[in-house]
Amino acid sequence: MAQDDETQRQDAPISAFERMWHYRPDVPIKTAPYFTKKPSLSQMIRWSYRQWLFVTERSLLVLISTVSFLYFQPELAVMAELQIGWVTGLYARNLGLMIAVAGLLHLYFYSFKKQKDDLRYDSRDLRAQSGQFTFGSQLGDNVFWSLASGVTVWTAYEVLLFWAMANGFAPVMAFADNKLLFIALIFATPLWISFHFYWVHRALHWGPLYRLAHALHHRNTNVGPWSGLSMHPVEHLLFFSSILIHFIIPSSPFHILFHMQHQSLTAATSHTGYEAVLLGDKKHLALGTFHHQMHHRYFDCNYGNLEMPWDKWFGSFHNGTKESHAAFKERKRSLLSKMRG
Ligand SMILES: [Zn+2]
Ligand SMILES: [Zn+2]
Repeated sequence: MAQDDETQRQDAPISAFERMWHYRPDVPIKTAPYFTKKPSLSQMIRWSYRQWLFVTERSLLVLISTVSFLYFQPELAVMAELQIGWVTGLYARNLGLMIAVAGLLHLYFYSFKKQKDDLRYDSRDLRAQSGQFTFGSQLGDNVFWSLASGVTVWTAYEVLLFWAMANGFAPVMAFADNKLLFIALIFATPLWISFHFYWVHRALHWGPLYRLAHALHHRNTNVGPWSGLSMHPVEHLLFFSSILIHFIIPSSPFHILFHMQHQSLTAATSHTGYEAVLLGDKKHLALGTFHHQMHHRYFDCNYGNLEMPWDKWFGSFHNGTKESHAAFKERKRSLLSKMRG
């Protein structure tokens, strides 16, 4: 009897974990297969295919950045001098992109509830009224920080890079210079972003930086499309600083657009709160990951993304199973008892 009680006590928090989620995808969550001990070529091809083809976040990004580059981008020569005209043009373009992507996703999933709660991880409503948010509402707060700070810092980094390229302070590579390298750089961008994101995000969880900046993003324990880029200006400065790599790596303005739009627009898609767009009973267009959704609920796990297994290497990986949750709670307990001495 005593042993049964003990077993039940141990089971209780674990089943509570499962009840906590409206929807869990196939677990354990998998990370990209590039960094395993025995990399399998077929797994790598399958993973890359799912990331890049056909209608995926990344293929759509390539399309959006191509259109931006061809039709909404001034010549480098124009950007050699800082002028209000082209800077405002870039700002308007970025504002339009952010409103289109986050706005349409919000309308689809939250205003018109086109998918109800199907494939939705956490079915709690977004907070319509709460004192912890700017303007007292989660949506108002998220839209404000995304547009006022997010789009401004995003545009400022683009202006810096384009101006630097135009003046020879950052190296430029055209498609005709080296076609293979040009394309390879597109494929390498998400890897670099993943590396940068993990370390910046770890730093943002350091007490003083967390309180100053990152706590604003973590007001969102449940997330919607506008939550992705809802950050403090200091976090935006750090988050977008991945672009500074282009002061070293020769690249085209197209790469800058792809890189910055990857950072900003996938922040919206990855925070929809849904795993994918469901049409009929088929999943189309993968969106948010359960991996990052758990970070918003539990804070001390899953700092990176699935492109590089940093969380596995540093012991903060939560793979979405009840066993992993028990281990996560144990890690937290022992950390707390160490802090208490
Ligand atoms: Zn987030
Ligand atoms: Zn965080």
